Amino acid sequence: MSGSERTVDAVIVGAGFAGLYQLYRFRELGLTARVFEAAPDVGGTWYWNRYPGARCDVESMSYSYSFSPELEQEWTWTEKYPPQPEILRYLNHVADRFELREDITFSTKVTGATWDDGAKRWTVTTDGGETVTARYVVMATGSLSVPKDPEVPGIERFQGKIYRTADWPHEGVDFTGLRLGVIGTGSSGIQVIPLVAGQAADTTVFQRTPNFTLPAGNRLLTDAEIAERKANYREWREAQRRSGFGVPVPVAEKSAFEVSEEERNATYQAAWDQGSLMPILTAFTDSITAQAANDTAAEFVRGKIREIVENPEVAEKLCPTTYPIGIKRPCLDTDYYATFNKDNVHLVDLRQTPLAEFTDRGIRTAEREYEFDAIILATGFDAITGALTAIDIRGRDGVRLTDKWSDGPRSYLGLAVAGFPNLFTITGPLSPSVLSNMVVSIEQHVDFVTQAVTHLRDNGYAALDANVQAEGAWVAHVDEVAHYTLYPTADTYYNGANVPGKPRVFLAYAGGVGTYREHCEQVAAKGYEGFDFI
Ligand code: FAD
Repeated sequence: MSGSERTVDAVIVGAGFAGLYQLYRFRELGLTARVFEAAPDVGGTWYWNRYPGARCDVESMSYSYSFSPELEQEWTWTEKYPPQPEILRYLNHVADRFELREDITFSTKVTGATWDDGAKRWTVTTDGGETVTARYVVMATGSLSVPKDPEVPGIERFQGKIYRTADWPHEGVDFTGLRLGVIGTGSSGIQVIPLVAGQAADTTVFQRTPNFTLPAGNRLLTDAEIAERKANYREWREAQRRSGFGVPVPVAEKSAFEVSEEERNATYQAAWDQGSLMPILTAFTDSITAQAANDTAAEFVRGKIREIVENPEVAEKLCPTTYPIGIKRPCLDTDYYATFNKDNVHLVDLRQTPLAEFTDRGIRTAEREYEFDAIILATGFDAITGALTAIDIRGRDGVRLTDKWSDGPRSYLGLAVAGFPNLFTITGPLSPSVLSNMVVSIEQHVDFVTQAVTHLRDNGYAALDANVQAEGAWVAHVDEVAHYTLYPTADTYYNGANVPGKPRVFLAYAGGVGTYREHCEQVAAKGYEGFDFI
């Protein structure tokens, strides 16, 4: 197909949860659609991130599609928190069941997309030399799909093996007898470390920022639990859609200081025992909006770290103290803190002795060199905007998306960008995205896009474009909501702080998925208020 030019109604970039569902919906509309996916198969996040311990932190029966009641009934999750292989099997099942593969071109990266104002179409180019023109382009490129390496030189010098959690070998890795270094203690590091440390002869963990993590309490689901959820899926899905994070939890009624210290700690203990992220973050009305309230939860978890970790010095290094709990992506783990009680597991605090370089034998910090046979990089992602700015996207008058976003992303509702007609960003910057159960947010965005396209067709319009005023108002609103919370107080990937040079803007809408959904519903009900039709 190289060199040929094809015409379709829609190009979709990415074949994870978002791209697969968008393809399904566009087909229902009778549109011709072509999906391009860089990986050789479907799955997105769950195709790439195959490291030991990779698992979703949202319960399986909530982290799944709601669009097909038949699919809900025929698929049976086995564990409370689904492991990566099971989610990947699920997405493969979805691709097969709805016969989606035939419209997906795998192992192909989209490199550019240019809007033609005369034809009112996009011209999309790929790294395979293919050119496709399309009326609509949907970027289902993922919020956490562009991994980043540590910003120190010399990685190519290292003579041992380098493994990235976000691009893990399919055949697996045996670390038995090896001296292992692990860089990074975010969600992936916290999941992988207990497992590889149980295998390697000696493991050294390099930590820049300690993380709050709670015990997952993962287990097999019981038949009764599965049957109950399957019987009540519709009500559950509706509750998910109207909730704050896409996971229904009781709404707090009291401030952390309206209860006694005893009652507060009992609440946190119950949350700790429950094995879930939400209860501790939503325990009180002010848990993520007031520093003093947040401190009580943070101190509770620090107390747990000091209880679990036997060496007090190591425990202190593992205690997060520089940001509020829940404000940097919190984690769930299995035996993470206890892993540091093993004699052959060591912790290096990079705040005291920063990374200097990779050497041919290992890693040098400001203090000394460490020798390894293998190094795992669990060093995070260029989150939320990375996959979009990696593509050369040019809108009206040839304006580049990267230029428009040079001071941070501007977007209307987090799904459309003024000056880039008919381009949609699923879970894009300034939408709830990473602050939610992302499958709920993905389905909501895909449904919005599908209805907007239906509206265009029904009314004989070629395109819609967010207007600059509506976009500006949304950018200001997202910023205002973020500043009502403690989110902007920390250095996190939520605000670009993990990528040197990235503009510091809070990248997600913090008002909750239910509120956001209502807002989008009102926009649609008012004839797509804030969009111009062309
Ligand atoms: P992705 O799954 O990221 O898929 C995007 C796809 O687009 C990728 O396959 C990529 O190869 C492809 N792509 C990107 N750019 C291009 C291009 N230019 N050309 C062609 N293809 C391209 N979310 C939760 O809600 N709860 C969790 O507990 C949770 N845990 C996570 C754990 C890990 C380790 C990671 C990495 C993410 C986690 N997430 C979690 C977020 C997860 O990414 C989303 O839940 C969901 O899988 C996103 O689906 P998606 O289709 O939007 O994006």
